[in-house]
Amino acid sequence: MVSDIARVLYHESTILSRLDEMAHRITEDYASKEVTVVSILNGSIIFMADLLRRIPLPLQLDSWSVSSYHGTKSRGQIHFRQSQIADVRGRHVLLLDDILDSGLTLQAIKEKLVAESGAASIKSCVLLRKNVQRGVEVEADYVGFDIPNEFVVGYGLDYNERYRNLPFIGVLKEDAIRRHAV
Ligand code: 5GP
Ligand code: MG
Repeated sequence: MVSDIARVLYHESTILSRLDEMAHRITEDYASKEVTVVSILNGSIIFMADLLRRIPLPLQLDSWSVSSYHGTKSRGQIHFRQSQIADVRGRHVLLLDDILDSGLTLQAIKEKLVAESGAASIKSCVLLRKNVQRGVEVEADYVGFDIPNEFVVGYGLDYNERYRNLPFIGVLKEDAIRRHAV
């Protein structure tokens, strides 16, 4: 599995120190607010676990299973796997996602929340932000790392469900992309 990685971008220790900084800011920004964290599964699961344990606020947590990717290209189409979402009326929602790429996922989720939830505010936090021209006007409020436009895996991010459990973030080799294509 590790031999499929062309190069490591961020080791676990680097990720965790960045999470310390992000958690500190989020804790300050949301002090005395009723916050519900909505994490976008599966990609954000390890990020969520490490980040939330660094935020000493009485927050609530909901997780949504959403997909927009097949292989290494965004399909520009978002699929919500559940119809029921937590009641966040009057609460401050912080969306957590693994990576901001085209922005279609975050935009679709924000639109759904704005239309249906009655949340007091909606902000977003991503571990990674890809340096690409985004077709939609969506920005993340908290960003872990800015990365080049390459396909990365590990620390929750997958390629066709592989590599999520790598403890670091790395660029996948071209031949691994071919071998594990579906
Ligand atoms: P967007 O809707 O912003 O194009 O894509 C967001 C979703 O696409 C992320 O939640 C993530 O699941 C997936 N994604 C985008 N870029 C990458 C990448 O480089 N590697 C992996 N593994 N997933 C990605
Ligand atoms: Mg994802």
